[in-house]
Amino acid sequence: MSGIYHDSDADLGVLSGCTIAVVGYGNQGRSQALNLRDSGLRVIVGNIMDASLERAREDGFEALPIADACARAAVIMLLVPDEVMPEVYEKDVAPHLQPDKVLDFASGYNVAFGLIKPPDFVDVVLVAPRMIGPGVRDTFVSGEGFASFVGVHQDASGQAKARMLALAKGIGSTRAGCIEMSMHDEASLDLFTEQGFGPAFGNVMMAAVDTLIEAGYPPEAVLVELFLSGELAYTFQKIREVGMLAQMDFHSHTSQYGSMTRGAKFASLIPTLKEKMKESLEEIRSGRFSEEWSTDRAEKLKLLEKMKELRSKLPFAEYERRARAAFRIGDERDR
Ligand code: NDP
Repeated sequence: MSGIYHDSDADLGVLSGCTIAVVGYGNQGRSQALNLRDSGLRVIVGNIMDASLERAREDGFEALPIADACARAAVIMLLVPDEVMPEVYEKDVAPHLQPDKVLDFASGYNVAFGLIKPPDFVDVVLVAPRMIGPGVRDTFVSGEGFASFVGVHQDASGQAKARMLALAKGIGSTRAGCIEMSMHDEASLDLFTEQGFGPAFGNVMMAAVDTLIEAGYPPEAVLVELFLSGELAYTFQKIREVGMLAQMDFHSHTSQYGSMTRGAKFASLIPTLKEKMKESLEEIRSGRFSEEWSTDRAEKLKLLEKMKELRSKLPFAEYERRARAAFRIGDERDR
């Protein structure tokens, strides 16, 4: 069983007097920097000279070019997008690494798949929130905290684990709990959710949308029924709070009887789904996906744009626009 850590396992004192450079003031960077400062730690920000750097200054941080922040700091938290990280690391971070410094990642991706190879004289740690950036801040402020996957990839100082736990506590994660694992496992689980679970779930949703619209139900009604009412999101929240099986008791007896007696016929899809999911997992774990994504990056970004354009032309995109406008949800409210 992997280690699971809470507040009582971590001591912020191991980082007292250290300067922590949060590199990248975006989704994760801003929230983590604010949380670390509110935890009493000394934080500076490194960013390219753009609006994010100005925002860091408005938030009261000393904000510097990335190389300058890395030169100053004992702990460097690399919170730029994964696809630009190897270049940022080579140019602005690596030249400023010295013995006893700590390099922290919020995603194991680049280290796990060999795209960043830190020197053996620094501590390399992982503190990877299972929470989007705004949630990292909101749950810190509310006191709830958020789970993270954490790990020591390289312990040069003999202090890496204590430092890793102190960072996790500083950003508010040990309040909810941190589970220990390797960078490779963290990155693989993350990518599997994106490539194995997410698309499978999305296709189940699309099959339901198509079935109901083909049967003559209005798209607005179908989308409200399936997810737009918020009932599905609320049910997922209850799954988290009370458990997948126990939440079923919140539904009517008709619902419980119907879904349990009819559920079995969909079980025949499981072997096919598992076969596809195993393919995805193998592609991820072998490094084939990361190799594909890091080769001919400009071409891959063009392909991504093309796919996004095609996505916006799907009939589903129009159904969503109509339904969201009809129910005055989000940006469609004012149309
Ligand atoms: P963002 O996309 O929010 O970007 C972070 C920062 O990097 C921004 O300040 C951005 O500037 C800056 N940046 C963008 N391009 C460059 C570049 N070429 N050179 C230098 N800086 C650049 O990143 P995230 O916060 O989403 O991700 C940071 C890390 O956190 C990643 O490792 C990610 O995997 C991990 N993570 C993210 C989660 C999330 O929910 N987003 C969840 C858990 C982990 P600007 O704003 O000007 O573009």
